[in-house]
Amino acid sequence: MKKTILTGIRPTGNLHLGHYFGAVKNWLKLQNEYETNIEIADVQALTDNFDNPSKVRKNVYELAIDLLSCGINPEKATLYIQSQISEIAELTVFYSNLVTMARLYRNPTVKSEITQKKALFGNSGESVTYGFVGYPVSQAADITAFNGDLIPVGEDQLPLIEQCREIVRKFNNIYGETLKEPDALLSTSPRIKGLDGNEKMGKSLGNAIYLCDNEETISKKIMSAVTDTNKIRKDDPAEPEKCMVFYYHKLIENPNLDTVCSECKKGARGCVSCKKELINNMNKFLEPIREKRKYYEKNPEIVESILKKGTEEAKQKAKVTMKKVKKAMMIEY
Ligand code: SF4
Repeated sequence: MKKTILTGIRPTGNLHLGHYFGAVKNWLKLQNEYETNIEIADVQALTDNFDNPSKVRKNVYELAIDLLSCGINPEKATLYIQSQISEIAELTVFYSNLVTMARLYRNPTVKSEITQKKALFGNSGESVTYGFVGYPVSQAADITAFNGDLIPVGEDQLPLIEQCREIVRKFNNIYGETLKEPDALLSTSPRIKGLDGNEKMGKSLGNAIYLCDNEETISKKIMSAVTDTNKIRKDDPAEPEKCMVFYYHKLIENPNLDTVCSECKKGARGCVSCKKELINNMNKFLEPIREKRKYYEKNPEIVESILKKGTEEAKQKAKVTMKKVKKAMMIEY
């Protein structure tokens, strides 16, 4: 029997290279090896966007199109909408008794996100909602609803898996052996830097290359990418490792990478022509994704039917867990 993988993504905008190389590329491989469940985490997206539901709603379809265009195969992976699986919400309520507020505040992932919020909104954290602090509990519900064996995560998300394991242990101790403790499948996918050299590519940072960007947008973005600031003239030698253009040449595996590197170091390459080469290669890289996107945009009923089928499948799986949970908790009437 194949092991079950559970992963998810919040529908808060189109996917960019950071999502692709940081997660989706790995999922394309995993869907061939495991029983893969991919959750479009719209309820989780609402923890940050509860006052903007139309944004989340629109992005559910955008995200589905992005994922399918990248090669997520609905025959291999179950793609479903979190909000439609009411069992996840029920489990979240049951699990909320098994974790203390102090423990949630100690969760390093929650802690660092609260710190970021404070830095962004400049307050002392009064606007942090109960739903936001509790999202590790809802994540534990996401994972256990599908009996997830393995959860692909980066190092920074390990505390969320640990929190889930704690909840599972506590549940099993109190109500009897019912739930499966998941293991983390540590991903070696890199965190992708932004066009401005920031360590993280992000929508809010305005430094992202989106998978749906057209040729003109790609050209504008790459032309404005940060290069080695010490290179003023075309024939100045430079350090490719200080240049985002070189970084993306490497990321999308330019076959002439060694030439780019040596010519840059010798001052035998101008930044404009180097950027044009990257624009060309980036468009070649994105073209198959754009083509598939066009197909799904023209055929929205196909996307809807994939989501409907995936969500129905997911619901059936979650129902099995819910039956066991309710029986164990003596609330099966
Ligand atoms: Fe970057 Fe290319 Fe300019 Fe070197 S030549 S600094 S790699 S853009």
